[in-house]
Amino acid sequence: MRLILLGAPGAGKGTVAKLLTKLDGSVQISTGDILRGAVQAGTELGKRAEAFMKAGDLVPDDLIMGIMEQRLQERDCQQGFLLDGFPRTIPQANALKGLLDKLGIELDAAVDIDVPRDVILDRLTTRRTCSNSGCQAIYNVKSSPPKVEGVCDKCGSPVIQRDDETEEAIGKRLDTYNEKTAPLVDFYEKEGLLMSVSTTSSDDVVNAVKAKVGL
Ligand code: ADP
Repeated sequence: MRLILLGAPGAGKGTVAKLLTKLDGSVQISTGDILRGAVQAGTELGKRAEAFMKAGDLVPDDLIMGIMEQRLQERDCQQGFLLDGFPRTIPQANALKGLLDKLGIELDAAVDIDVPRDVILDRLTTRRTCSNSGCQAIYNVKSSPPKVEGVCDKCGSPVIQRDDETEEAIGKRLDTYNEKTAPLVDFYEKEGLLMSVSTTSSDDVVNAVKAKVGL
């Protein structure tokens, strides 16, 4: 399947993407994970992206499009892909449209995961992430803590609160989402690709997607 996952930070895009990859071998492409990996590795990309990310601001569109143009042409994308955290702005959505046309790729849908703001705020302040850039497993101190406090179940690295998950940065990310990314819902509606799901359950989203793509 070839999907865009839309929704505010904390709506569950990453969780849904991971569940969907198990269904048909599609790969999850998370621009946030790619960027955090680059920051940790200290690459040129990471150096350019770091300050924007820490502040809860978006990284400039040209950097993101460079990443995606390469990533979508890698072999593992042939089975399908789930775009998690991209596109994030109307210019990115337009550029993606041009890129997919050029590559001869058609999308199945843009899935908007609609979750109430109070649920989002609670999830983000209690979210913890594995600090190992190759792992980036997600935990929640209330609903799904690691077995040993502060230690990743999967790889044993420290589990931390992300720099952009302080209350101030979270507020900023949600404002940025409403201003820059929420307009993509209309964009994909006009493209005839929009599928909206209002739920706090990732399983509900997965089932709606399965029905849509015939799995
Ligand atoms: P979340 O969806 O939880 O906000 P992500 O992991 O998707 O977090 O992204 C973290 C940060 O990485 C964003 O706040 C932003 O700075 C940057 N980022 C990720 N994807 C994009 C994108 N498509 N365009 C611009 N910046 C991005």
